[in-house]
Amino acid sequence: MSDMAGKKETAENITNKDYITVEAILQDVLEELNRANTKYPLFFSEHEGYAIILEEIDELWDEVKKKNPDRLKMRAEAVQVAAMAIKFLISMEIREKVIK
Ligand SMILES: [Mg+2]
Repeated sequence: MSDMAGKKETAENITNKDYITVEAILQDVLEELNRANTKYPLFFSEHEGYAIILEEIDELWDEVKKKNPDRLKMRAEAVQVAAMAIKFLISMEIREKVIK
């Protein structure tokens, strides 16, 4: 990592603002969400949504617990977790509107 503006990098002074923007991450999450939504329908139930989120969490964990985790794979799995959590919310709200 580079030395930013002469500031010595330590775990304490590195913030996400130095490297990434929330907008860039959300863009990746939205792309993942759109990809998933064109392949699969919305969640039929909260149970299904929970199961899919858990599956993505497990895939993230499989990467995290490796001796040498692949950062790109880890990031991709975390993006999928976020996308599926948003899909859970969308599915829930649409079902509520349809049922009412
Ligand atoms: Mg995954």
